[in-house]
Amino acid sequence: MIDTQFLITCCGMLSAPHVSFPGQETFKGQLFHTARWPKEPVEFGGKRVGVIGNGATGIQVIQTIAGEVGHLKVFVRTPQYMIPMKNPKYSEEDAEAYKSRFQHLTERLPHTFTGFEYDFEHAWAGLTPERRREVIEDCWNDGSLKLWISSFAELFFDAEVNAEISGFVREKMRERLKDPKLCDALIPADYGFGTHRVPLEQNFLEAFHRPNVEIVSVKASPIERVTPTGIQTADGTIHELDVIVLATGFDAGTGALTRIDIRGRGGRSLKEDWSKDIRTTMGLQVHGYPNLFTTAVPLAPSAALCNMTTCLQQQVEWIDDCIRFVRTKNLKVVEPTKDAEDGWVAHHDEIANATLIAKTNSWYLGSNVEGKPRRVLSYCGGVGAYRQKCNEVAASGYQGFTMN
Ligand SMILES: Cc1cc2nc3c(=O)[nH]c(=O)nc-3n(C[C@H](O)[C@H](O)[C@H](O)COP(=O)(O)OP(=O)(O)OC[C@H]3O[C@@H](n4cnc5c(N)ncnc54)[C@H](O)[C@@H]3O)c2cc1C
Repeated sequence: MIDTQFLITCCGMLSAPHVSFPGQETFKGQLFHTARWPKEPVEFGGKRVGVIGNGATGIQVIQTIAGEVGHLKVFVRTPQYMIPMKNPKYSEEDAEAYKSRFQHLTERLPHTFTGFEYDFEHAWAGLTPERRREVIEDCWNDGSLKLWISSFAELFFDAEVNAEISGFVREKMRERLKDPKLCDALIPADYGFGTHRVPLEQNFLEAFHRPNVEIVSVKASPIERVTPTGIQTADGTIHELDVIVLATGFDAGTGALTRIDIRGRGGRSLKEDWSKDIRTTMGLQVHGYPNLFTTAVPLAPSAALCNMTTCLQQQVEWIDDCIRFVRTKNLKVVEPTKDAEDGWVAHHDEIANATLIAKTNSWYLGSNVEGKPRRVLSYCGGVGAYRQKCNEVAASGYQGFTMN
């Protein structure tokens, strides 16, 4: 037992793998989650490999191993919008030029919408259709997340703007895929661009043109179980495999902490509380859990919608200042009031529910984990606005927090 006055959790927003297929333990080949990649090199050469999932990690695995494996089956449930990543090789001069902008970057990043250098600079309504298209093309050609988080903010709120940008991305994906069957399997049709996490890729779509790569669409015929020799889908087919890679994602935002038996006042359990309603005060503390500080948990941008390094730095600085404040006042305990937490949850929900994200199903809302209470996990008001609110609380002497 280790006694501590304060507990600061830095357990990660995407660190608790989400894996749940019956029969996994019976598989005779090699099976692992992308977040638990074996330490020794995995031998894919000539093997029959199945990858379950085509999100951020699935994409990286598929595009990397497609040319190496004997046969690859990709089990796709939800097609993803994606942006081709440029990933240029930087020279020493490039690196120096970048470093020379350090001061500018440290001043700018904390105040943009997502904590990246770029920010939303255009208003959809003010531009002609031709100019909008130019902006979209420019952002696309940047080979980064720019199209998502610095083209038009309206894509998060306005269904018509979102439909137009989604149409653009579908068109780009169709140009590369050519085969109508691949287009049906890999291009999203029932949700809008940017309402799920947008992965970056390199030659991911082209991997499906290889004769050794096959798609198994598991929307209509879901995976039922893992058998000793492969994966069984609901239609009764057993897909025989030597290696299974689970690119099935994470119990995001809450999973790392609910796997620890965290207890608060009167023995209340965080796991039980969050199994009913996922609540925090600014993602920094939870009412009922005095002296517990959190990073990268729900109801802050650091739960998914930001450049994490920018957001986490801001959170640890706020926590550091708060603890110093408690100590300089010769106090021992800090905890948000129920009213303050109610206020933050209401503010968070008001913004989140105005977005198109709230109308979708993805790990952004916890809908990948059965029984997880539904709420947009990430604060959608922007990194700059969030930071300002946190600073205001600190400047007010931590209004909304009881200290004794
Ligand atoms: C596929 C993927 C793509 C991502 N893409 C981006 C991106 O593009 N941009 C971005 O900003 N972020 C991205 N992230 C988010 C990424 O998680 C963060 O950028 C960064 O890793 C967060 O740092 P962290 O220290 O909060 O958490 P982590 O790096 O996840 O570290 C958490 C640590 O806590 C440990 N831990 C957890 N529970 C326990 C426990 N019970 N006991 C002991 N140790 C524990 C874990 O083992 C881990 O070492 C991505 C994450 C994933 C998985």
